[in-house]
Amino acid sequence: MIFMNKQRVGNSTFIHNLNQGSIFKIIHRHGPITRKELAENTSYSAATITNHVKKLIADEYVIETEKGSSNGGRKPVYIKVNPKKGYMISLNIGVNHSQLYLFDLAFEILEGKNIAIDHQKDAESNLLKIKDEIENLLEKHQIKRDKILGLGVGVPALINREDKSLEFAPNLGWNNLEIPKFYARYFDFPVLLENEAKAAVIGEKEFVYPDIENLVFVSINEGIGCGILLDGKLYTGASGNAGEFGHLIIDSDGPKCHCGNDGCWETLASESFLRDEVNRYLGKDLSIDQIYQLDFEKDEKLKSIIKRSGCNIGIGLVNIINSLSPEHIVIGGGIIRAEGYLMENINQIVDQKSLKISREFADLKFTELEGLATVYGLAAQIFNLSVEIVT
Ligand SMILES: [Zn+2]
Repeated sequence: MIFMNKQRVGNSTFIHNLNQGSIFKIIHRHGPITRKELAENTSYSAATITNHVKKLIADEYVIETEKGSSNGGRKPVYIKVNPKKGYMISLNIGVNHSQLYLFDLAFEILEGKNIAIDHQKDAESNLLKIKDEIENLLEKHQIKRDKILGLGVGVPALINREDKSLEFAPNLGWNNLEIPKFYARYFDFPVLLENEAKAAVIGEKEFVYPDIENLVFVSINEGIGCGILLDGKLYTGASGNAGEFGHLIIDSDGPKCHCGNDGCWETLASESFLRDEVNRYLGKDLSIDQIYQLDFEKDEKLKSIIKRSGCNIGIGLVNIINSLSPEHIVIGGGIIRAEGYLMENINQIVDQKSLKISREFADLKFTELEGLATVYGLAAQIFNLSVEIVT
């Protein structure tokens, strides 16, 4: 399902032994953990755990640490992941800027930065500039390239999973771009390409909602993208692009959408709708960042525009709730900066119009990952794939 250039697979520096790999995964998820707890929570015997942990320590995948009180006796020894054993790089390409984040193996962010997208230049020039930034980042943190498990690239785009390419990113104006192949010219670590909202739903699942199996992430930016997790698994459909709810037609007499239809959800509920409506009223050409600085409560017309945005967002969410009956919907993307203005109207529409039985089971929240759901999700995808490939 996830595609990467697999040059390093087969001679990977990551764990080769199946049992060690599975013990490592448990330590990663539940550590710091004692050897005794490991034996209690797995089917391995205490002796097997001792042997594999010994090898994992010798190979520097995990380290010993002390934690808690000793009750007078010896302090228990805990095992945790060695954060310096490997690193993940996440790149979330957005319409206005890209987020570039470096994670260690324990998913701590070592550095994150925003890189502006230059719309005067073509896609390749922008990708090249980001390539330089990645090299700078690795140099600054003195990380050797063979310690990088992979680079995850998120895009607000339809993607071709067979060709491993970005097929169409209307709001960026990019199409037919083989991003993994492009970066393979410069880096020998694996490169993964994923739709940004699909990566975000994985980020939410891994870091915020580990127990939720049916989750939808709605990413509202210049357009609207969605990631669907069904029964704990990312759902991509036959085309690899399931979840394009941004193109649900909610008003057949509505504004023209770049997909060719009229009145798609994203023409009426995205940041571009909010920006265009405000600018039309004010007779200005404010950026979306400037628009988020406005006081929408101070002006009746501005108040009605933000109310309409919230109601329109709500209408799309009603369609998602009625069709998928998720346990949880998370709203993310740039729109989170207007959460305080939007939530009441969104909830009102969702409560009024959803089928009662589906609404009862669906929690609705803005993201708690503060705009980083996609970068966390990409890092998790890289990590999971690296461990899965070798175990
Ligand atoms: Zn459309």
